[in-house]
Amino acid sequence: MAEIKLHDKLEVLFDEVMHRNAGETEFHQAVHEVLDTLGPVVVKHPEYVDSAIIRRLCEPERQIIFRVPWVDDDGVVQINRGFRVEFNSALGPYKGGLRFHPSVYLGIVKFLGFEQIFKNSLTGLPIGGGKGGSDFDPKGRSDGEVMRFCQSFMTELYRHLGEYTDVPAGDIGVGTREIGYMFGQYKRITNRYESGVFTGKGLTWGGSQVRTEATGYGTVFFIDEMLRSKKDSFEGKQVVVSGSGNVAIYAIEKIHQLGGTVIGCSDSGGYIVDEKGVDVEVLREVKEVRRARIGEYVELRAGGATYVPDRSVWELGCDIAVPCATQNELSGAQAAALINSGCKVVAEGANMPCTPEAVKLFAEAGVMFAPGKAANAGGVATSALEMQQNASRDSWTFEETEERLAEIMGRIHDRCVETAEEYGQPGNYVAGANIAGFIRVADAMSALGIV
Ligand code: GLU
Repeated sequence: MAEIKLHDKLEVLFDEVMHRNAGETEFHQAVHEVLDTLGPVVVKHPEYVDSAIIRRLCEPERQIIFRVPWVDDDGVVQINRGFRVEFNSALGPYKGGLRFHPSVYLGIVKFLGFEQIFKNSLTGLPIGGGKGGSDFDPKGRSDGEVMRFCQSFMTELYRHLGEYTDVPAGDIGVGTREIGYMFGQYKRITNRYESGVFTGKGLTWGGSQVRTEATGYGTVFFIDEMLRSKKDSFEGKQVVVSGSGNVAIYAIEKIHQLGGTVIGCSDSGGYIVDEKGVDVEVLREVKEVRRARIGEYVELRAGGATYVPDRSVWELGCDIAVPCATQNELSGAQAAALINSGCKVVAEGANMPCTPEAVKLFAEAGVMFAPGKAANAGGVATSALEMQQNASRDSWTFEETEERLAEIMGRIHDRCVETAEEYGQPGNYVAGANIAGFIRVADAMSALGIV
């Protein structure tokens, strides 16, 4: 990872991050990826290093780690670990999702929280950066178990939250069901119907239209902008989407609406191929209603699709690749295979799904590459729209909300392109996203003093 040479002053900072956060490899990777693009900024504005803005950015404002005890359906006491990393509040209350997955540990939460700062800044909306979660595995757990876990988790976390303090949402393993149980417990403990303390709520209890679809739709709006900048479109394009969760499902739906064909998607057990185009209704039935494995798609689709177990969906060739599963799911070798198949555009629907080697190969091959901070910012942007509606006790229509999301994605795209050009790296969306996100938060930090 450290093979790419950083600007000297940034190298010192990176060494410090490695030392202070030993063993947190995903966090190191996320920090390195940002520092790698800040060289030209530091040359132009040495004050960001001199006033320790970058050093402060790498150190979370607050990190909360707590025990989450609960009783399973067999009466056995289970212990999980809960996390909330309140990373940066220069632009607004800490904002970012909660992830429930067995792989969650401090290094994952910090990488996600760190990325969230820049992503949220890039939206132009008043939201700081944070992230949280637990190593709890919801897979195979009953509704009652999930509820008891969420209630126990919230019994500790509630004291750190508030609509002006810290506003969680969903991520992997956390959807409307889990947000409901957590919001219910928060409301019970605090005796306040404080809608703005969570986003991703259900539509009957303070949620926003389009929030469920927003990350997937937003990623596709972003790709559409990239294609448009080359006078191209989704029409006739073959697309591969990894994952089959909330981001993947709505990315597929929007790609089909815009004329592309998604020929495959996946889960952690394997992938499906459906040359006629993945049927979103069938996928939703398998994943959202039955909460089952993706192999069941093939039975329900009756003859039109195949299931390939234990292999990666990235062995399918395509014009456009949209990784929507999880961090580091797309390796250098898989990137090389995609490039060989003629893939011209890659956009990250998930957070950091492409390894540094993959990103480097895409850049060298001239593949247009959109990092998650820009491409998947539609989810959190729509969360900010949910907060706006909650604050004014209003609710907007689906059309109005979707239009705002599309506008925001268009603005993020243009900001990335213009910033990359301004800093001498035209077409580099990674540099554009990192630098534009960084400057907005750095200027706010500088205005707020040493805090
Ligand atoms: N977990 C999502 C993300 O990675 C959404 C966060 C939010 O809506 O607060 O951006």
